[in-house]
Amino acid sequence: MGRVGDWAKETLPPVLLVLFLDVAVTVAFVLLSGKSVRVGTFRPADAIPPKVAELLAIGVAVGLLECLGRGRPDASLFTFGLAFVALIAVDHFPSAFGFAQPIRPAHSLTFLVLMVSVLALAFRKRPEVPIAAAAGFFGHMAGDTGIFAPVQPFSFQYIPLAPYTGAFAVAAVVVAIAAGYTKRRRVQRAAWRY
Ligand SMILES: [Zn+2]
Repeated sequence: MGRVGDWAKETLPPVLLVLFLDVAVTVAFVLLSGKSVRVGTFRPADAIPPKVAELLAIGVAVGLLECLGRGRPDASLFTFGLAFVALIAVDHFPSAFGFAQPIRPAHSLTFLVLMVSVLALAFRKRPEVPIAAAAGFFGHMAGDTGIFAPVQPFSFQYIPLAPYTGAFAVAAVVVAIAAGYTKRRRVQRAAWRY
């Protein structure tokens, strides 16, 4: 298989799994939420292009930090940076279609724990995958403003994101470098076996 084939084989399964988890968690949290907390609204149309540009910029930064930890350019890690930052935004889809929903189901520690656990199980031989997903989550959260419910669906109490922006940004940098370093060690160990 060529380079593009290898890249697709490495990146598509984790990305599709996170997309699936995001949609599943969003639907589950909509169903588990009371009517009074379904106050999530979709961004006005003119606010979408700047947000997309911001997510792209954060995704590029996270991807480059992962390559830094890896010690070399790595197309798969760079792709994870972009994809895992962007995918958190998928949880707005019910409101995009006009359905009432709780605010930001995937922007929760519940989703973070679930996503990292499922990826760690599904990609046991590639420990950098769940770490890269966590880096994407933290990067996405660092760019957001407004409110979130960190432990939904157990509590839909909304709190402001602003006090945590710095912590999320630091976590994104550290965890992204750790993801790259983890892959570097894994590839080195695989090479030593021969
Ligand atoms: Zn967001």
